[in-house]
Amino acid sequence: MYRTHNCGELRLENAGQEVTLAGWVQRTRKMGGMTFLDLRDRYGLTQIVFDNQASPALTEAANHLGREYVVQVTGKVAERSSKNANLPTGDIEINATDLKILNPSEVPPFTIEDDTDGGDELRMKYRYLDIRRAAVRKNLELRHRMTMEVRRYLDSKGFLEIETPMLVGSTPEGARDFVVPSRMNQGQFYALPQSPQTLKQLLMVAGIDRYFQIVKCFRDEDLRADRQPEFTQIDCEMSFIHQDDIINTFEGMAKHLFKEIRGIELTEPFLRMTWADAMRLYGSDKPDMRFGMTFVELMDVMKGHGFPVFDNAAYIGGICAKGAAHYTRKQLDQLTDFVKRSQIGAKGLVYARVGEDGTVKSSVDKFYDQEALQALRKAMDAEPGDLILIMSGDDAMKTRKQLCELRLEMGRQLGLRDKNKFACLWVVDFPMFEWSDEEQRLMAMHHPFTHPKAEDIPMLDTKPEDVRADAYDMVINGVEVGGGSIRIHDSKLQAKMFEILGFTPERAQEQFGFLMNAFKYGAPPHGGLAYGLDRWVSLFAGLDSIRDCIAFPKNNSGRDVMLDAPAPLDQKQLDELALAIVKNDK
Ligand code: ASP
Repeated sequence: MYRTHNCGELRLENAGQEVTLAGWVQRTRKMGGMTFLDLRDRYGLTQIVFDNQASPALTEAANHLGREYVVQVTGKVAERSSKNANLPTGDIEINATDLKILNPSEVPPFTIEDDTDGGDELRMKYRYLDIRRAAVRKNLELRHRMTMEVRRYLDSKGFLEIETPMLVGSTPEGARDFVVPSRMNQGQFYALPQSPQTLKQLLMVAGIDRYFQIVKCFRDEDLRADRQPEFTQIDCEMSFIHQDDIINTFEGMAKHLFKEIRGIELTEPFLRMTWADAMRLYGSDKPDMRFGMTFVELMDVMKGHGFPVFDNAAYIGGICAKGAAHYTRKQLDQLTDFVKRSQIGAKGLVYARVGEDGTVKSSVDKFYDQEALQALRKAMDAEPGDLILIMSGDDAMKTRKQLCELRLEMGRQLGLRDKNKFACLWVVDFPMFEWSDEEQRLMAMHHPFTHPKAEDIPMLDTKPEDVRADAYDMVINGVEVGGGSIRIHDSKLQAKMFEILGFTPERAQEQFGFLMNAFKYGAPPHGGLAYGLDRWVSLFAGLDSIRDCIAFPKNNSGRDVMLDAPAPLDQKQLDELALAIVKNDK
C-alpha cells in the first residue's frame, strides 16, 4: 500500500493515528534539531516532522531530499503547537518514523508554489510541473465540476450526448480550417470541425430532438487572450422550438451553473437587448453590463460651434464617468494616448469636467461657451463632480467601437468591473449579414444556416443588409460565452441564402448538398446554441486568459511548446501522403 491517506485529509481528530502518505516534496526546512517537510499531492499539503534526536539517520535522509522528490512517509499524526490557519491540514503534523524515496527529481526549472518564478513560456514547456501548482490544478478541477454539472443539467432535460466526427470536410464559410491530408485518398484532405454545426442539424433531421456534446472545435484564426486554435464548446441543438424555448433552456443552464459552481442564485430573468441597441448604447455586441456609462449621441449638441473636428464628424458620442472630475491633466493625457493606440486608432479625445458649482470646463472651451457646455451637461445628464468624455469620427461604427474601448478602460480605472460581480445579458436580433471588405460581398454574421426573422424575409431580395436574424448571444461581463440561432429547415430558403452569399447553385450543392438534400426528407424546425466552455471556466475562475483553464494550451503563435508542435514531417511521411513542401520560410 502506497498510502493510507492523501496529503489533504488529515485533521485534529486523526491525532494519534499511524499513517502513511505519498507525494512530492514541496520544500524542506531545518530548524534547530528538527527538519520540516511540506508534502504535496493533488489534495493538499501536509507537514512532516523529522526529529534529529529521536531518529538521526532518518532526519539526515530528510535533509538530503530535493524539491519534487516523490517520497513515502510513515508516522504518527500529532497536534501542532503552532497551527497554520491557512492550511486545511494546518492543525496537525506527522512525526515521521519512516521515509522512502520513490523517485528522485532534478531541480525543477521554476518553483512549484502558488507564487512561482516561472515565466509563461517556461511554465508551458513544463506544463506537467505547472499543473502541480494548486493555482493551475484548481482551474482544472473547476472545469471538471462544470462539465459534470452541464451533463447533469442537460441529461435532466432529456438531451442526448452524441459524438460527431473529428475528420470532416472543409467548408468555405467561417474561419480558416485546419486540414488533415488523407493517405488513402491522395491529394485529398479532411478538415477538423470548426463546430459540429451541420452535423447537429442532421441529428435533428434524424429525430434526435435534443442533442448535446462537449466537443473540441478547431479554427485557424489569429490568437487572443480568449482564443485558442482548439477550444471546447458545449454544443446543443433542439427540435420543435422557438427562440424563447432555447433562451429559457440555456438561461436555465447558466443559472444552474452559477448556483452549483459559484453558489450564486440568479432569480431574475437575464436582460435582453437587441443588437442595434447594444451597438448604439455600448458600441459593442458584447457589452459589459456591470456598469452603465452608456453612450449619448451628441451630434445636435456639439455641431455648429466652429470646432472643425466635430463639425465634420459622422458620429459624436459621449460617456459620463460619475465622480471622475478629479482626473488630472496627466490622467486625461494618458486616456488620450490610450484611445490613440494603434489597436484603437482614434484621433483624440475631448473632455469636460463638471465642477462642484455646476460650471463646465472643457478641453474645447475655445469653441463652446458656458451655455453650450451646459447643454452638453444636460444631454449627458452629468452632475457636479462628473467627467464627460467625447469621441468623434467620420465612420460611425468605427467611432462607436473606439468609444467602447474607452468606456471599458474607464470602467476598469474606476473599479466598476469587479470579477466577483456578474452581469448576464442576451443580445438578440443580430443582423443576418455583414459586409466584408476583404471578400467584397455579404457574409453571414452568425452562419449561413441561421434563420432570418420571419418579418424580414421579404427584404432578402431588396435590402438584405437590413435583414435581422433569429440569432442570439449570451454575454456575461462583456464576454461572449455562447451564441446560437434558429436554423433554416427549408431547403429552398437555404438555397436562397447561399445565393445571397454569392454561391453558384453548383457550388452550394457541392459544399452543402448533404444538408439541403437532408432537408428534403422532413426536417423539423430546429435551433440551438453553443457555449464556450473555456470562457465559462475562466469567467468563474476569475482568469484573464482562457489558457490557464486548459491543461495543455498553445502559446500566442499557436505552438505547443511542450510537444514542440507543429513540426516538419519526415520525407517518408510526406511521400506516403503524396505531399511536397514547396515553400518553407523557416
Ligand atoms: N455552431 C455555432 C458556433 O460555433 C453555434 C450555434 O449556432 O449553435 O458559433
